[in-house]
Amino acid sequence: MTVFPTTIADAKKMLEAKKISALDLTNLFISRIENLDKQLGAYTQTCFESARNQAIALDKSGDFSAPLAGIPYSLKDVVSKKGLKNTAGSKILENYESPYDATVAELLEKSGAILLGKVNTDEFTQGSSCENSALQLTRNPWNDKKVPGGSSGGSAASVAKYLGLFSIGTDTGGSIRQPANFCGVTGLKVSYGRVSRSGIISYASSFDSIGPIAPTVDCVARVLEVIAGKDEKDATTPNISVEKYSNSLSEESNLSGKKIGVIKEFIEADGFDTDLKKSFEGTVEKIKKLGGEVVEISLPLTKYAIPTYYLLVKAEASTNLARYDGIRFGETADVSTLEEQYTKTRSEFLGPEVKRAIMMGTYTLSAGYFDAYYVKAAKVRTLIKEEYEKAFAQLDAIIAPVTPFSAFDIGEKTSDPLAMYLADIFTVTANLAGICGVSIPTEKVHDLPAGIQILGKAFNEKEILEIGAVLEKDYNFTAIREKELV
Ligand code: GLN
Repeated sequence: MTVFPTTIADAKKMLEAKKISALDLTNLFISRIENLDKQLGAYTQTCFESARNQAIALDKSGDFSAPLAGIPYSLKDVVSKKGLKNTAGSKILENYESPYDATVAELLEKSGAILLGKVNTDEFTQGSSCENSALQLTRNPWNDKKVPGGSSGGSAASVAKYLGLFSIGTDTGGSIRQPANFCGVTGLKVSYGRVSRSGIISYASSFDSIGPIAPTVDCVARVLEVIAGKDEKDATTPNISVEKYSNSLSEESNLSGKKIGVIKEFIEADGFDTDLKKSFEGTVEKIKKLGGEVVEISLPLTKYAIPTYYLLVKAEASTNLARYDGIRFGETADVSTLEEQYTKTRSEFLGPEVKRAIMMGTYTLSAGYFDAYYVKAAKVRTLIKEEYEKAFAQLDAIIAPVTPFSAFDIGEKTSDPLAMYLADIFTVTANLAGICGVSIPTEKVHDLPAGIQILGKAFNEKEILEIGAVLEKDYNFTAIREKELV
């Protein structure tokens, strides 16, 4: 029995029944952060005073009918929140304050959720371990010698350790699903356009998606209901209705009638850890036991996914990063000429992975190489998207591993960027195709959390959340997490 609510639904019930006040709940999470985050390193800044004030106002009103009234949460440090810094894990924005709220932050405030602070990310969300953050190290809550994953490593680590009941992350090539997997929590990568990107510092604009990391499938569904939908400020959000995703999760406890694909090329991928593979095969058996039909499918273009992804995202990143020139945003170097201002500022205040993006991206977009690299990769992207569309024409969902190996040691891969890129093999195709995916923990392997992702057709978040909820109930990983991390 835990001493505090560990899901949004439980917290909501307790707040509505006045079994706990919003202020007491807020203080409870604040004291966990004060006691536990020094070691974890998830929060880059906190806003406890405004959190307490918001809670006091809620208690005074006595009205907890708003969907997330009184629920404490955090934002990845690329989501604009007026009055708070928006560092993107970078020296160049270390002291930059957001002048306005991201749409997501605005919607969450309206829903009554209580913001506790911002959490760590790889610099400009480029990375898979949070080690590219120029500000601080975040550790894996299950083993402090291991990385929490990235780039939303602060989000996943803080949620796993119950330093908030959910966090907003971003996923451009796996940055929600992979850290959720490494930290044993649930992470939802929404379909491209499902959630507004307005006010979020972009990595690669045609790939970026914004979504929740939370303890359970029901929790991410509840947050999605609040943040999804059309936004005038983001032209890529279509007018597709937002469903009451959490309603359909109710009592379904089997998968009968579901046809679920397994991607042959993923299972045969080089370097897929044998114990994780065994664990994944166990999930496939479980799906069958729960009444689902599993079919093997072949997506031969998978072998081009990593080069296609990295070519395109680094090209988009190089253009997005052009605005950090020492004039418009953030830090500026001490210089005497304009040219020096550009070059010195960028040399001094940007980290190695971001510089690599600028060089790779500028190269592939340059006149002589544009057609050979960028245009070709864009065409392959379309083919990958079509391959998924074809597969989904005969499937309800696809089940896949999230990472080829468990959370690795801090420092283990920092000297080999290519090894770090290859670790994204199972996640980048969803972003290339614009589809949705939810990562859920299943069991412990190598004494660390392991899990799977369920991929679904674009804008069919409902389906993958339903399947995820059935598997979650059967595995009951929550019990393990609560026992070890509360
Ligand atoms: N590791 C991947 C990259 O660096 C994914 C990052 C992300 O999804 N933000 O591109």
